[in-house]
Amino acid sequence: MLQELTDQVFNSQYTAALPRDDSFALLFEGDHIAMDQTANRFPRLDEIQGSRDSLVYLFSIGETVFFLADAPLPPGMRWVEMREVRFEAPREMAFAAATGQQLSLWYKRNRICGACGEKTQQSSMERMLFCPACGQLYYPAISPAVIVGVIHGDSLLLTRMKNRPAHHRALVAGYAEIGETLEETVRREVWEETGLRVQDITYYKSQPWGFSSSLLVGYYARLSGSDVINPQDEELDSAFWVPRGELDVSFDGISMTNEMIVRFAKHGSDGLLRPEMPPFMG
Ligand SMILES: [Zn+2]
Repeated sequence: MLQELTDQVFNSQYTAALPRDDSFALLFEGDHIAMDQTANRFPRLDEIQGSRDSLVYLFSIGETVFFLADAPLPPGMRWVEMREVRFEAPREMAFAAATGQQLSLWYKRNRICGACGEKTQQSSMERMLFCPACGQLYYPAISPAVIVGVIHGDSLLLTRMKNRPAHHRALVAGYAEIGETLEETVRREVWEETGLRVQDITYYKSQPWGFSSSLLVGYYARLSGSDVINPQDEELDSAFWVPRGELDVSFDGISMTNEMIVRFAKHGSDGLLRPEMPPFMG
């Protein structure tokens, strides 16, 4: 998956690191990021114009430090669409771009205190914004969402999103509502998108997904009851059962959805589902 960097450690802890000429500068323009012509790297700090006072420390990957910058597009660089970065750039660059975009949006959307309307300020100690007028604190917001691989015998439930290309296949997915456990989100999303019920909900892995400011939590689950698909909301995607032998998908090393489909295609439900544990009685 995108965050699985082979030989380098990602460190998101905030520090008061000083900018160096060879640090990377992340510049965003809408859904685009500044990269060199081959989309292989970001500008270095010594390549961008403007004061370094406005730089914001983001994170490090290995020895490489990344800062958020607000500057014109440097010479020799171009605005690259985030979607292109995800699929074309080296993995650590794509992960840095996604995570940097999430932080960039968070800083941008919290310039003003939502409680009293004053300008917020950045803490020098941690990743936090505070309001000097009313004392309100703002920490980065992460939206949890589930990805669900629903298994029925030797078939997997795939969905097609209405606003995506016709060949695009996905799993049931959706954001957790306030007040819900993630298992409840799994049951609700499967019900809303397909009218199906599930059991044996089993955690798989999670994936930070900066492109949508979310943390994806992957589950497999077994069908419970009828296998007739009947979406509960007309606006939702279509869904269909695909026998394991007909799952035509290759491993992309980027998204957890892809990994979950490929894993089922290769190994079936072996080891993916556990029986429901008896309730804990305390
Ligand atoms: Zn305030």
